[in-house]
Amino acid sequence: MVDFTFTEEQEMIRESVRDFAQAKITPIALEMEKTKKIPLDVIKGMAELGLLACTADEKYGGAGLDAVTTGIIGEELGRADPTGSIPVFWLVQASWGYLFNKYGTEQAKKEIFPKVCSGEWFLGIATTESDAGSDVNGTRTMIKKVDDGFIVSGEKMYISGVREAHTNGGGHLTIAHQDLEKGTRGMTMFYLPLTDKGITPTYADDMGREGISCGGFSIDDVKIPPHYILGEENKGFYYVHEGYEYARGLIAAICAAAGQKSLENGMDYIKQRKMFGTYLGKFEEVNFRLAEHYTRMHMLKNMAFEALLSIDLEQAGKATRFETAKKIAMAKMFASDWACAAANDVMQWQGAFGYTHECVDNAIYRAVRSFAWAEGAKEIMKMIVARELLGKDFVAYK
Ligand SMILES: Cc1cc2nc3c(=O)[nH]c(=O)nc-3n(C[C@H](O)[C@H](O)[C@H](O)COP(=O)(O)OP(=O)(O)OC[C@H]3O[C@@H](n4cnc5c(N)ncnc54)[C@H](O)[C@@H]3O)c2cc1C
Repeated sequence: MVDFTFTEEQEMIRESVRDFAQAKITPIALEMEKTKKIPLDVIKGMAELGLLACTADEKYGGAGLDAVTTGIIGEELGRADPTGSIPVFWLVQASWGYLFNKYGTEQAKKEIFPKVCSGEWFLGIATTESDAGSDVNGTRTMIKKVDDGFIVSGEKMYISGVREAHTNGGGHLTIAHQDLEKGTRGMTMFYLPLTDKGITPTYADDMGREGISCGGFSIDDVKIPPHYILGEENKGFYYVHEGYEYARGLIAAICAAAGQKSLENGMDYIKQRKMFGTYLGKFEEVNFRLAEHYTRMHMLKNMAFEALLSIDLEQAGKATRFETAKKIAMAKMFASDWACAAANDVMQWQGAFGYTHECVDNAIYRAVRSFAWAEGAKEIMKMIVARELLGKDFVAYK
């Protein structure tokens, strides 16, 4: 059994994030779908609360938060922004900030974190390419060592926060092959500034979470200094999975909160909407579904926090990487499906209004749908759990 009693400090953080998010984010959330950006005052407000890259050490401007506390912030942002734009903007920087904090060089962290934590720059993750999503080894971006640094060339696709980093400043943690023949053992991870003149962005027209951009960029012989390399060369494939795990745990917490919020919206609606002489909420076709979704969201929240706790326990040497990987994958496996199913029914209950862009549950549905792919397709989560149960000899492919 896991004890989910949060500390007094964690409850205070929850309260301050909730107050801020309800006052500053919820009222402008749907507007972000039209303006396609997060208002600057919201970003600055998040920075003042210490939410941006909150996993970075305090000496670099972060808040040095653990994974469970970070998950609490994710829940509150997930509840407050039905479009999912701000939760994504935040979670990418929190989880990849965690990885950068762990493997980045002192020089790079001092240079980059203060600008990210203050909301001036964006820190993203760019692994995906047209032939390399689930199969990271399919990456064809190359990194070559030269006398005074490294030269990178290739192309990344479906990357969150490209416009934010390209226009405002910042960059993405990126992975490339340094030695193609060595496969996953020849991949290096590094920080790539998106403001470099060798970067040419393109943008996707997504179905949801439109307040944050998603797109790709070509990398034409971009030179990076040696201190932008994370950890050791050729070990990037292993580092990248730690970042994914962190992000997936946060996604599970965000989906649980977004789905729960949609159900609360639905409850308000079915308790007052009358038809055929009674309340919509009295029909078992409706309230049985509510009961099932509510139970799933409760399970999802518990699984998310058990998984996030495992990250913290692992840091303290009390859990193994494998235990964490399994718990994280179990939590993310159904996160998108379950939250989508809840929001989908809440949309259905609201009749034709549910199909409009004014319906917040419609935005929630579109936002949580993205997590069936983002930070790892749900099928990959099943692969990880099966691998941990049966052993790596039972993985059908490498
Ligand atoms: C909104 C959004 C934002 C994103 N942001 C980022 C980002 O910031 N940075 C980044 O690097 N990437 C990002 N991604 C990309 C995301 O990580 C990939 O979509 C994901 O890893 C899947 O890769 P893919 O899209 O290439 O699909 P593929 O790998 O081509 O897979 C296609 C489909 O095949 C199925 N599949 C895959 N493997 C298996 C299997 N073993 N068994 C059965 N079925 C399988 C899955 O259903 C999968 O959806 C984002 C994606 C979305 C949708």
